[in-house]
Amino acid sequence: MTREDRFTSRIPGVLVPRSLLADPDRFGGRSTGDCLSGDLLIMDGQAVALEASDAPATRMVLPRLTEPHVHLDKCHSIDRMQGVGGDLHAAIMAQRADKATWTEDNIRLRATRGLAELIAAGCGAVRSHVDWGDGEEPDQPPMAWHVLGALAEESRAVLQRAALTGADRMADPDYARRCARRVAHDGAVLGTFVFDQPDRAAGIANCFREADRLGLALDFHVDEGLKPGLDGLEMIADAALETGFEGPVLCGHACSLANQSENDLARITDKLARAGIAVAALPQTNLYLQGRRAGTPDRRGITRVRELQAAGVCVVMGADNVRDAFCPIGRHDPIGVLSLGVLAAHLDPPFGDHLPMITTNARRALGLAPQTVDGAAIGDLLLFDASSTSDLLSGTARPRPLAETIGTRP
Ligand SMILES: [Zn+2]
Repeated sequence: MTREDRFTSRIPGVLVPRSLLADPDRFGGRSTGDCLSGDLLIMDGQAVALEASDAPATRMVLPRLTEPHVHLDKCHSIDRMQGVGGDLHAAIMAQRADKATWTEDNIRLRATRGLAELIAAGCGAVRSHVDWGDGEEPDQPPMAWHVLGALAEESRAVLQRAALTGADRMADPDYARRCARRVAHDGAVLGTFVFDQPDRAAGIANCFREADRLGLALDFHVDEGLKPGLDGLEMIADAALETGFEGPVLCGHACSLANQSENDLARITDKLARAGIAVAALPQTNLYLQGRRAGTPDRRGITRVRELQAAGVCVVMGADNVRDAFCPIGRHDPIGVLSLGVLAAHLDPPFGDHLPMITTNARRALGLAPQTVDGAAIGDLLLFDASSTSDLLSGTARPRPLAETIGTRP
């Protein structure tokens, strides 16, 4: 048998970012910036190697993307509202008023569109929060929970639901127990909004206790603001370290890290790293809501992505709100969100270093096994029209499933 016969397919002229290979030194190909280039060799339905070739490399191979933080219950609701604009509090009030008029059909229509957009952008896994609203019984999910549950069953992508409760509600041990039991029953994630609630420490403690008891993943919206004194992120890290909780724990926003002195920042990021807590930077919504004042904003509201990464914290990036009261524009598109994050957080080249935030690290943060290109099933791989990682982040063309190109040996 010749070497060629061992391979069932060959895809000529592709690039693979080194950051998305488990073992780049053994994958073959030719070093091309922060990528390897060559012909991709497929054997038994898996990507096994690159072979250096003279074919021009104009397409890039990536594993399916992961969206770690969206709100499919709220998305695409902006046209239902009039004159929305303002800070986080104004957005919460506007969205609450609109939510009172939601119907099952309306939620399904909007969430289906949001999920379709994510899949078209290349997502294979998505976590959506669902407001677990005021006044409802702790073990009685809102209408949107059921709608997203049905979507999850039908979807080609993994769709995780996270119940978005408030730390004040979770401070009641009975509420926390009943809510967590329902979340566990539905195979979902326990989530909580932590801001400046007086009893937030009790709420956080109850989340960890219930998650530990029931084997749940945790997801916090935490310190979504730039006012001084927000301390939820460190409270969560302390709770994780004290309880020895094994996770996964994902903390979204953490805007107020921008307020911390160098010493405080070093202490908090060290605790997050030791606790294995991942942080989601959410540039779309933060840029719109944070740092509001009479004129043009001079603060960005993005968490300290670079310092967190330097401390060894797993940092991921998500779309958060798309066309709702929290962010009246935006896209369900991880490549587009990462591109915005590059500008907002000054993430310098090589851009391949940042791709794990929407792929391998994003999957880790959701408690899923990371997928790299080497050894991946072809059904888990995508082809983007891009000749470099800068080109990838600047392009708007949709990816194609790599499997569609198989079967045409040149
Ligand atoms: Zn959110």
